Amino acid sequence: MSVVLPAAFEDRLKPVLGTEWNAFVQALKEPAPTSIRINPYKNSFAEGSNIPWTSFGKYLTERPKFTLDPTFHAGAYYVQEASSMFLEQALKQTTDLTKKLNVLDVSAAPGGKSTHLLSLLSRESLLIANEVIRSRATILAENIQKWGCSNAIVTNNDPEDFSRLSGFFDVLVVDAPCSGEGLFRKDPEAMKEWSPENVDLCRKRQRRILADVWPALKEEGVLIYSTCTYNRFENEETMQWLREQQDAESLELKTEDNWGIDHVHENGIHGYHFYPHKVKGEGFFLSVIRKKSATQGVSLKARKGLNPPAKKIEDQLSAWTTVTEPQFFTWNETALVIPGSLYKETAFLLDHLKFVQAGTALATLKHDKLIPEHAAALAVDLNKDHFKQLEVTEDDALRYLRKEPMQIQSTGKGYALVMFNGLPLGWVNMLDNRMNNLYPKEWRIRMAG
Ligand code: SAM
Repeated sequence: MSVVLPAAFEDRLKPVLGTEWNAFVQALKEPAPTSIRINPYKNSFAEGSNIPWTSFGKYLTERPKFTLDPTFHAGAYYVQEASSMFLEQALKQTTDLTKKLNVLDVSAAPGGKSTHLLSLLSRESLLIANEVIRSRATILAENIQKWGCSNAIVTNNDPEDFSRLSGFFDVLVVDAPCSGEGLFRKDPEAMKEWSPENVDLCRKRQRRILADVWPALKEEGVLIYSTCTYNRFENEETMQWLREQQDAESLELKTEDNWGIDHVHENGIHGYHFYPHKVKGEGFFLSVIRKKSATQGVSLKARKGLNPPAKKIEDQLSAWTTVTEPQFFTWNETALVIPGSLYKETAFLLDHLKFVQAGTALATLKHDKLIPEHAAALAVDLNKDHFKQLEVTEDDALRYLRKEPMQIQSTGKGYALVMFNGLPLGWVNMLDNRMNNLYPKEWRIRMAG
């Protein structure tokens, strides 16, 4: 395969890579490695070699048809390129993860970093997974639902909306929209869209996002900045700009020599570069900065509390979930649950942000009836034993995911969980002589197989 790189891109990167340039170009001709990150809450297992900078990542020897794997739809793993999983080192090495933390992932769709963060944070910590583009926020919400954690809120806000939340967050993750040079191998479109003008646009946008969210970081909190691009304008220089504007300290991370990551330390900035000829992954950059300036924390006063469901609904829902000290509330006819430790934060944020999803949606309330929500089936805290469970074959699992009739025979009435390999896929409603498939129609798989 030949690779024709934009001339201006070559002019810029060739001097940076020097004698490594040919190896870099050669790597772009190789197939991109396939990797997944398993969901630690779903007892997932995958064959494959470990990705050294994360406890959850695996390289696969071939690229299976993920769409035709029912466990993928159950949220057993997330398909993600390996370099981006370095986020784990950035978080573990700079932050005490045993503490209750407020974390913002400001440009979160489709949810790679957010689902990874949920695997790393304590269950009483709060993740705000935000995405400014509405259609992408819907995909983000879907992936967070599949991951199954109740300590996440998905929002659809512009980064500037976070500037009002002074000192609220312990960690900010800015996985910035960028010129995508690191994606040239995986996504040839990224190469077509590349231009020096676009790099400049991205650089300006990144600074705007950073300036918008910076006030929301606590004193001593950390901001993890990453891009999937190589150029210094969007990377080191952006971090340098932030450090010069703000009272902040760039943090050094420990890496092993055999990981193949390039550590650049210049002008007070530590940056970590991933090049495809040196790591088994795509192009990526990451840098961590700690806030040093005193920041007045916003007071968590909410205009009103969360709207509780009727007592008898709450009693019924208590049997559905194993969330610690569950806090139930209603929102648009839906009953939801969050860990009780997050009540104040959730009520406060509801006044300030545009929620797409909060905690786990358990049921739609129809008069006094509870119709289970799909998110409840995927929740890691679902009390599965409270429901009838129908373990199905792979063929039936795929029929279920296509919303086709299954061949399974079962008796009884009411809502039941369709399970594959011990993992819930969703709900059916069992009636006298048929079974209604409640899989969300917009999630239905369409691939033949
Ligand atoms: N963090 C994601 C993950 O790991 O799956 C990938 C994020 S992607 C690199 C950057 C995201 O920024 C995209 O979802 C894009 O829609 C969003 N975005 C685009 N313009 C933006 C802006 N002006 N402010 C904030 N986010 C923006």
